[in-house]
Amino acid sequence: MTTAPTRQFTAADYAGRMTHAADAARAAGLAGVLVTPGPDLVYLTGYAPVAITERLTMLVIAPGRDPAMIVPTLERPDAEVAPSARALRIVDWLDGSDPYAKAAKLVDAGGRYAISDSAWAMHALGLQEQVPDATYVSMTRALPMLRAIKGEDELERLASAGAAADAAYLAILRVRFAGRRETEIGADLAALLREHGHSEVDFTVVGSGPNGANPHHEIGERVIEAGDMVVLDFGGIVAGYGSDTTRTVHVGEPTEEERRVHEIVVRAQQAGFEAVRPGVACQDVDRAARQVIEDAGYGERFIHRTGHGIGLTTHEPPYIIEGETHPLEPGMCFSIEPGIYLPGRFGVRIEDIVTVTADGGRRLNNTPRELAIVS
Ligand code: ZN
Ligand code: ZN
Ligand code: ZN
Repeated sequence: MTTAPTRQFTAADYAGRMTHAADAARAAGLAGVLVTPGPDLVYLTGYAPVAITERLTMLVIAPGRDPAMIVPTLERPDAEVAPSARALRIVDWLDGSDPYAKAAKLVDAGGRYAISDSAWAMHALGLQEQVPDATYVSMTRALPMLRAIKGEDELERLASAGAAADAAYLAILRVRFAGRRETEIGADLAALLREHGHSEVDFTVVGSGPNGANPHHEIGERVIEAGDMVVLDFGGIVAGYGSDTTRTVHVGEPTEEERRVHEIVVRAQQAGFEAVRPGVACQDVDRAARQVIEDAGYGERFIHRTGHGIGLTTHEPPYIIEGETHPLEPGMCFSIEPGIYLPGRFGVRIEDIVTVTADGGRRLNNTPRELAIVS
C-alpha cells in the first residue's frame, strides 16, 4: 500500500484553476467555457454530482466575470458543499422550469464558447435553441491543454498511482501463468491493484501469445501456455488520478527472436523518454521512439501513437503523436508506450507514465523494463 496524499484541494486551488481557464479562454478568443459534469468539472470545481442525468448542471466561466454554476434546485445542497462553492455563484432551476432559458442569461448572445466534450447533446442543443447566435466548439479542440499541466499536488497523486500500479506488477510476477486463463490473470491483477490502493480498476489487458499482437485485445478465455509472451497493461484510479503501465513478460525461456523484439521495444521506450524536455514538440517524442523500431526493421509493426496524457482520466491531451506540435511544458504527464505487434504470433509493449521536469523527464513507473520470466 502506497501512502495517500494528505492535502485536499481547497477553494483557493479551484479558484486558481477557474481563473486560469478564464485566461485561457480569453487568449483563445472565446467568450467563455461551458462545463458539464465530468473530468473538466471535477478539475475546475471538485464537484461531481451523484449521478450525471438529463437535469442540466453547467459551470459558466467567462473572462472578467465571477464563475457561475447552474444546478437543479434539488441538487443545490450538494453543490453548496463542493470544495469550490465559496469561489462560485450558484444558480438553481426548479423542475418544470426551462433550465436552458436560465442558463442563457449567463451566456453572451453572440459569443463563442468552448463546451465540455462530454456535454450531452440534449444540453448543447437546448442551449443552442435559447442562444441561437452563440457558437460552440469542443473543449479538447479549443483548449486542449486546459488540464495538461499538473500542479504539485496532482503530480503527487499521479506518482502514488504509478507506485501502486508498480507494486501490483511486481506482485503479479509471482503468480502462476502457465495453464491459467487470461481472465484469471486479469482478476489477479485487478485484486492486486485494489490491494495496493486503487479505488477503481479501469482496465486489465492480458494479451497472451497471438492475442498480444492485437493492441486492442483486452482479455479472453485463452489458456496461457509455456512459451507465451504476455502483454500486461493495466491501470485505474488512486486518489482521483489515473495509473497506466505496461510490461510484457514471458512464460519460461524465450526464444532469441522474442528477446530481440523485446529489447528493441525497451530501447524505443528509452529513446522516447530521453527525448522528453520542455520545449520539445509532442511529436518529437513519438518520432524518437518510432525511429528505433523503424531502424530495427519493425516500423510497420508499430501501429499506434506513442502515448497519451493522463490525469483525472486515463486518456487525455497531450497526445504523443505525429502532427502534434504543441511543446512539452513542465508538469505535463503522459504515457510513452511503443510496441511491436507480430500478427498471429505475439506482441510486445512497454509503457511508463512520464512527467516533464524543468530539464527533462521523470518516470512515474519504475519497475524493471527488462523481459521478466514468469512460470
Ligand atoms: Zn515464447
Ligand atoms: Zn496502458
Ligand atoms: Zn496508456
